[in-house]
Amino acid sequence: MKPIYVTQPSLAPLDEYVEELKKVWESGILTHNGPLVQKLENEICNKLDIKNFVAVSNGTIAIQMAIKALELKGEIITPAFTWIATVSAIKWEGCEPVFCDIDPKTLNVDPNEIEKYITDKTVAIMPVHVFGNPCKVEEIDAIAKKYNLKVIYDAAHAIGTTVNGESVLEFGDISATSLHATKLLNSAEGGGCVSKDEELISRLEKIRFFGHSEDKKDIVLDGFNGKLTEVHAALGLANLKYYDDVLSKRKKLYNYYLNKLDNESIEFQSLKPGANFSYFPIILQNEKTLLNIEKVLNENNIYPRRYFYPSVNLFNNIVDYSKCEHSENISKKILCLPLYTELKLDDVDRIVDLIMGAK
Ligand SMILES: *Cc1c(COP(=O)(O)O)cnc(C)c1O
Repeated sequence: MKPIYVTQPSLAPLDEYVEELKKVWESGILTHNGPLVQKLENEICNKLDIKNFVAVSNGTIAIQMAIKALELKGEIITPAFTWIATVSAIKWEGCEPVFCDIDPKTLNVDPNEIEKYITDKTVAIMPVHVFGNPCKVEEIDAIAKKYNLKVIYDAAHAIGTTVNGESVLEFGDISATSLHATKLLNSAEGGGCVSKDEELISRLEKIRFFGHSEDKKDIVLDGFNGKLTEVHAALGLANLKYYDDVLSKRKKLYNYYLNKLDNESIEFQSLKPGANFSYFPIILQNEKTLLNIEKVLNENNIYPRRYFYPSVNLFNNIVDYSKCEHSENISKKILCLPLYTELKLDDVDRIVDLIMGAK
């Protein structure tokens, strides 16, 4: 049997990608904010009903660009339960990550914890919409206002996530998202910055293109190369046609898993309305159970992933340790099961049976 990995990229049929690619060959334009990048930006804005989307080369660069555009220097409060890119982007921009603990139910940063970490060096809060579950954006915004802090959301998982029916990407000063192969909408590699603030958008566009002025005659900002290529945009455009399909298939699989696994010894992420069902994490009783289940699945050619493990505050080669009890505890016992558009219900049945048998 073919191996089943935690995810498989959602891909449009190859001939549809080739149709998009023909336009690249016709235009002879490969990069530099070409017509397909612009089209992708517009179509994403229409699809998600957002004002602006600045397409960039990946999600990590999108976070870095957000920090650069807001000219932040100092401490940025971010959850310890995240992917390492959140931390490295903060560090690469010369800021210091300060780890905040999470709510063990939602797996998102606990707004009640944030104030504890605010010092006179704090410049921003960078929450993560973990697994596409929207953060408590109103509470976070209120804290940011009270202390005059910026908010950048790591929205890498959050294309398709909504709050009160609106895309979560428009909350905060800037949201940084990813179009990486493993994300809900992908362009192989890619990402984007979203903001309602036109001035910030104009800065982001300049930063993406070496800091050039609009007429390209001068350098007006400390920019770099954050551009997405036309070849990647073509893939993004082809895949975007299947966006609704991808969303609904994932939701269906998510609920199918949930019904089958409903059992007192397994916990699930507590999802707010508007979550996008982009991952299927299970929280087990302890690490021993997790390792046992992982072993049985691996023996059957099934490869779930330990997202996020370990808690990033433990990466002592690059960060100073500070305790985040819930994050450390959850990361030891959380396992993301395979979830992707092409996954069959039969496969879910098999995975669930193996998990039940392994405990
Ligand atoms: C994927 C991811 C990123 C980085 O995105 P890339 O496009 O891979 O650079 C950042 N944060 C989180 C939480 C992610 O999952």
